[in-house]
Formats: sequence, structure tokens, C-alpha cells
Amino acid sequence: MGDMTRHRHIKILATLGPATSTPDRIKALVEAGANAFRLNLSHADEATFTKQLNAIRAAEEELGTPIAVLADLQGPKLRVGTMTKDSDGDVPVLKVGQPFTLDMKVDEPGTASRAPLPHQEIFDAIAPDQTILLDDGKLRLRVKSVNKDSAETIVEVGGPLSDRKGVNLPDSLLPIPALTEKDEADLIMALSKDVDWIALSFVQRAEDVVNTKKIINGRAKLMAKIEKPAALTDLSAIVEATDGVMVARGDLGVELPVEKVPGAQRRIVITSRIAGKPVVVATQMLESMIKAPVPTRAEVTDIALAVLEGADAVMLSAETAVGDFPIEAVATMNKVGLETEQDPAYRAALDQTGLPQENTSEDAIAAAASQVADTIDAKGIICYTTSGSTALRVARGRSRVHPYAFTPRIETARWLTLVWGLQCVVTEDAHSFADMVSRVSEQAPKNGIAQKGDQVVITAGVPFGTPGATNILRIATVD
Ligand code: PGA
Ligand code: MN
Repeated sequence: MGDMTRHRHIKILATLGPATSTPDRIKALVEAGANAFRLNLSHADEATFTKQLNAIRAAEEELGTPIAVLADLQGPKLRVGTMTKDSDGDVPVLKVGQPFTLDMKVDEPGTASRAPLPHQEIFDAIAPDQTILLDDGKLRLRVKSVNKDSAETIVEVGGPLSDRKGVNLPDSLLPIPALTEKDEADLIMALSKDVDWIALSFVQRAEDVVNTKKIINGRAKLMAKIEKPAALTDLSAIVEATDGVMVARGDLGVELPVEKVPGAQRRIVITSRIAGKPVVVATQMLESMIKAPVPTRAEVTDIALAVLEGADAVMLSAETAVGDFPIEAVATMNKVGLETEQDPAYRAALDQTGLPQENTSEDAIAAAASQVADTIDAKGIICYTTSGSTALRVARGRSRVHPYAFTPRIETARWLTLVWGLQCVVTEDAHSFADMVSRVSEQAPKNGIAQKGDQVVITAGVPFGTPGATNILRIATVD
């Protein structure tokens, strides 16, 4: 990993898939700038998942850098049932202005005038005038009337409809939990294999987050994927309840009019930053690089805008999972991130968001550390941290001087790799003031943080060796 890459603030989360599951490819992705990997449980079975996870851990060992693994649960993706096919294999085509029925007759394949929809909960939740979207929003129906187990609609946007296409209901809050039976089994499996983050899809309310966190029980961090309009309504409570947030623009752009996504993205990023919860901007960031070695200008600008919004991370999906240029896609994100962070507009943009401090000694030390480091032009802010929380609060303030986490726990070092700026060093806890400084003197040059004679700012908690509130701030010279 190049020295510059190490000093990039915005992190890169790359999705693994058939294009990138070998140990060599994973190593190459890390060397190109990937900080964390997403394993997508919509596609991967346990064998594939385990293989990918082991390869990541091997790369971590070999390259000597902690890497976060995020297991992404599929969530309650709704689908129509089977559809008929004519003798040529063509599927029914829905025509604009025609009536179309959805019903629970799951054994009768769908036609151009009706389709089975094997989800009783949908008929219980929808109401006249609401929108139903089919096939990632390509087809649109308007509800006219609803019965116990069927609904009459009018086709507003038509097109072909084949088996098991996705159904989105942007206007209704469904009485279904974000965790399906499959998700629960996948969750247990992922936790047994030592992942750092769990992503929960189609979160609708804070309760979804709270319930899943109960099952996780501290074994991993939870990331709430915001991809339902209902989640935007309950955003503050969801952000409060979760450990991290993903702006899941793929499904969000189906459920919301697509022109509303940029505004929603901005609101989600700012709300998360104020709460000090890491936030990932996801989906289609370099979509054209699935097939081409270079990005479009618009994609480059999209990444730059996420950097300027102060997001913690940007994500690649199909680009690295199934694309023809996965390494190039990560390298492109890396370059755009580094370059945008050099621009004078970056600081100005970050400082625009006012971040009120909380009434805790941790926030007091975090804010003071940023200020002291800035004043003396220190080479780094080094946070001794067991849980990671002080380092997280320093990163929340988007300090001008680069923040580092020194932690005895590899789990802490791993989950923090998704957080803005933080570079993590696994090292024993300090036993005394002298030990605290000598440990920094040993680790700083090795990790490209500072050289002999440079000043750094250190935060820690005394008495040493008892995890708990951070309460000291020290200026030290590397020797
Ligand atoms: P997905 O989530 O890739 O799991 O659908 C991201 C999104 O919807 O943007
Ligand atoms: Mn999604």
C-alpha cells in the first residue's frame, strides 16, 4: 500500500464476487486501495462465503493491515410468482392503461392481465392510489382497489414481466421485519465466522435495527441500509440505534423518484456524521467500469461529491464483484479520493457541517486533541483505544491532523477501517506514561505516521490498563 493511499481519509468498501474471489485478486484489491470487503449473502452460499473470508484474512496477515469484512444480508426482497411463456418463450407484456390484477393464486402462472404475488402481507398493507413497482422499477402499476387477497391496478408504465421479478412498494410501510428466516440463518452463520460488520437490508424503522442488534449481541457492528422511503421518515431514530449507515442508492432509487436520491443522500450523510456513525455511499459509483477500463466524468464527480460531503466510505458493487476491471475500479476510486482531498474545497466543505459536542470527557478530549494537533502542526493524533470509541469521536470531528487508533484488539482495528481517516495499529495497551510515548516512538516510523523528532498528540485513559473513559491528552516527540 503506497504511503499516500494510507493517508486517504475516505475509505473504499469493495464487494467480492466471481471476478475477485481468489487470494491473489483480493490482495491486489487491497494494494489498489480497498480498505474493507462486502460479502453479499444475496448471492454467496456458506462455502463461497467461507472461502472469501479466509482469503481476506490471509491477505490481512500477509499485508499487515487490518481489513473489515461486512456480511450483507439479503433482507425481505418481495417478488412476483411464476409467469407464463408462449411457444417462442416470450413472456407476457403489460400494456399502458390496461387493468392488471395481483393475487394470491400462486399456482396459476401470470399473464398480461394478472400475476401471482405470494405475499399476503402486501394485500394487508396497500391502499388505493399507491404505486407498485415491478422489475427494479421498470414497470409501474397504480392501485385502484384492494381486496382480502387481491388488488386491481392500472398499468402506468408497461413492459415484459418474467418470473420472480422484484416488487417495490414505495408508498407503504409493510408489517414485515427486515430479518427474514434466510437472513437469520445467514446472520448466525456469518457471526460464527468472525465478521466485523453485518449489513441489514430494507430497514424500515429503528425497531428493525434494535431487534437485529439483540441477536448480534456485540459480536459485530450493525450497518443499516437506507433503501426504503419509510426509513427516511424514521431516519434520526434509525441512526441513533445503529452503528453505521449505508446510503443504498440502488433500491432507494427505485422506491423514491430518482431525482430525490441526491437530496436524500446528503441528508443521510449529514445526519450520520452529526451522530458520529460511519456512513457509506453505495451503488453505481463506477457502473461503467463493469465493462470499461476508464470511468465516465459524471462517475468521477459522483465520487468527489461523496468525499466533499464528508462520507466515511464509498462502495463498489458489481464493479468489483463481476466486472471486467475490478482492480482498475478500486484504483480509480483511490485516485479520485486522494485528489479531491487535496483540493482547497475539501476543508471548506467539511467545516460547513456544524457538529455539536456531547457532554462527555471523551468528546472534550477528542475536540481538544484536534485543536492542539492543529495548533502545533502535529504529524498525527494517536488514540489509545480498546473499544474504538475515542478514535471514532476524533474522526467524527474530521480533524485536520490525521487520526490513528492504537488498540490491543484486532476486532477494534478491523471495524474501524470503515471510518473516515482512521488508520489502525494493533499494539498492547500502554502501562505508563513513559510506555505510552515509547510505544508511539516505536510504531510511528514503522507505520508511516511520523519520524524521530516529529510531534504527535496522544489521547489515552488513566489509570492505564482499565478500558473506559479517555481522560488525558499529551503532546509527545517521537524519539
Ligand atoms: P444491494 O444494496 O446491492 O444489496 O441491493 C445496495 C443498494 O440497494 O444500493
Ligand atoms: Mn439494496
